[in-house]
Amino acid sequence: MRILIAEDDQVLADGLLRSLRGSGYAVDRVETGSEADAALAAHEFDLVILDLGLPKMHGLDVLRRLRGRGAAVPVLILTAADSVEQRVKGLDLGADDYMAKPFSLQELEARVRALTRRGLGSASSLIKHGPLSFDAAGRVAYMNDQMIDLSAREIGLLEVLLQRAGRLVSKDQLVARLCEWGDEVSNNAIEVYVHRLRKKIEHGPVRIATVRGLGYCLEKIPS
Ligand code: CA
Repeated sequence: MRILIAEDDQVLADGLLRSLRGSGYAVDRVETGSEADAALAAHEFDLVILDLGLPKMHGLDVLRRLRGRGAAVPVLILTAADSVEQRVKGLDLGADDYMAKPFSLQELEARVRALTRRGLGSASSLIKHGPLSFDAAGRVAYMNDQMIDLSAREIGLLEVLLQRAGRLVSKDQLVARLCEWGDEVSNNAIEVYVHRLRKKIEHGPVRIATVRGLGYCLEKIPS
């Protein structure tokens, strides 16, 4: 899951980054509306957290341009407490949800989970594949109902593989989903994460198969 945060308030942005990264999301941040516009035109995200009061281009214009390009990515707008009018405008322009400042990070994370779930077209937060399951809401994975101890990066990786279980996921797709800008994550690093995740999940009837030169595939081992 890759999230873009467009927020010019440094303290708020830092809090959001820490909290979401700690839950295993890959998060990029921009400070101005024009940067947000450029980032959204060039990269694919799973969710956008968009402050409306941004320098250089208003958040509503960023949103208008995003939807104008036909992008369906879920957008959560951040508004000032008293700006009912902007909230309504944002929702009319295609925002999926809003939060009025100040808000609790806990509530924001709950809305992020709901929106990313909706983005995947699923009403439930549980993704299952054989004995493996992942609770996207709690950000925890289970093997035969036993919780697996995973790092934030491993959680992100497992989530991507599970969402496409049984299908090939290329290394480039993994890099795009898991890595943030300035994060020098090479294909080799992806191999290292996959290796670590394998050690933690491959004692059950599932495996992460390597498709040489192409990528990986989470499979059930036929019994
Ligand atoms: Ca602002």
